[in-house]
Amino acid sequence: MSNKTKVVNAVSSEALFGMLPDDLQALMKTLDQKAYRAKQLAEALYSQRVTDVHQITVFPASLREQLKEAGYGVGLPEIVQAARSVDGTERYLVRLADGETVETVWMPDGDGGERGDGSEASLEEEELDGLEGNVSEFSPETSRKRDIRNMGALAWSGYRRATICISSQVGCAVNCQFCLTAKLGIKRNLTAGEIAGQVAAVLNRHGIKMGKDRINLVFMGMGEPFLNYDSFIKSVVVLAKHIGIPESRMTVSTSGIEPAIRRFAQEAVRPKLALSLNASNDRVREEVMPITRKWKIAELLDAVQTIPLGKREWVTFEYVLLGGVNDQPEHAREVLALLKGIRAKVNLIVWNPGPGISYTQPKPEDVAVFQKMLIEAGMPAYIRRPRGRDIYAACGQLKRTVELPEAAPLVAIAPSATHLA
Ligand code: SAH
Ligand code: SF4
Repeated sequence: MSNKTKVVNAVSSEALFGMLPDDLQALMKTLDQKAYRAKQLAEALYSQRVTDVHQITVFPASLREQLKEAGYGVGLPEIVQAARSVDGTERYLVRLADGETVETVWMPDGDGGERGDGSEASLEEEELDGLEGNVSEFSPETSRKRDIRNMGALAWSGYRRATICISSQVGCAVNCQFCLTAKLGIKRNLTAGEIAGQVAAVLNRHGIKMGKDRINLVFMGMGEPFLNYDSFIKSVVVLAKHIGIPESRMTVSTSGIEPAIRRFAQEAVRPKLALSLNASNDRVREEVMPITRKWKIAELLDAVQTIPLGKREWVTFEYVLLGGVNDQPEHAREVLALLKGIRAKVNLIVWNPGPGISYTQPKPEDVAVFQKMLIEAGMPAYIRRPRGRDIYAACGQLKRTVELPEAAPLVAIAPSATHLA
């Protein structure tokens, strides 16, 4: 093999991360290996979260070499830059094998307060947390009362949970007028391994051991997950069945791709759903989300109602409040009429500004009235606390920052330490 070929192989090696047990079995068969090697490989990829084939120490060196020779590498996306917010949120620039980048956000949470992470799991946890006390009161004394061996990295840092927000596409094709990611257009879909791999990279960075730390996931980063449906669903299986984050702790947000919502309703392994409603009638929605020309609100609500909800499950409707556009009492009344009879809850998101987008933020008093009107009519309504706004990590602010010099700069970091479980 010439040196040149070797380099090409090294750059474009086929990713093992993201392969399901059947794929791994088939691979081991082609390498003339016994089936148990596939199990060991899955364990190394998803429990130990190795970053290089050479870390699979349960394999003999010859098998590691064989894998490399056959053109396989772990293929985890790599965190190349990080920015840290005053609120503890971290935004990462994550590089994929072909050099494209996406953004991933880490939101540790310790205050048990309002949900800032968009996840639905955190709401249920907070109901329970009322009984448990609060880790923000974490002190050496309270820590002595715990079984120290059972404390994960999060508890040691004084947090009770963290939410990871992951991207599903490089850019986005949907073109919502208020969203910074839309400015990128769409470059490509992520593979299942690249979607789930963002989670593994972030868990490695923070030394998280599954089973000890409470991790929620939100598919609310760059891209429209339901326009990359198959990879999104495969990533859910990798994350739920292999990495160890139950789907009940995951929330996927969609701008409303009607046929995909209907497919989603049939899935066996299914995160919670959040629908970006963002307007109270088709006319306003078409203005702010041109995709409404394709699927009207009524069609989306119809599709949403085919989801067989679990006992403690509801559908979340996200509603970005844009000053003077959709934040008035008549809009709140329309939202109530739309959602009547649906097991719903509304997450109000104060619009986060971004360069080149001409909307204005709603007045605080309008936000308060809007929320109050919903609640008084019996509709649960929460105001999502903006996370990491100072580092452009909040909802709709994700854009590859390399192309956005006016956004808060990301700081180059040393390659993250890998913590093996
Ligand atoms: N593409 C999916 C998921 C990513 S966007 C979707 O649109 O649902 C996640 C959430 O952020 C959506 O509810 C979206 O409406 C909201 N959002 C987008 N831009 C925003 C901004 N500038 N300020 C506040 N929320 C925004
Ligand atoms: Fe895409 Fe969601 Fe942004 Fe709309 S809000 S452009 S669907 S990422």
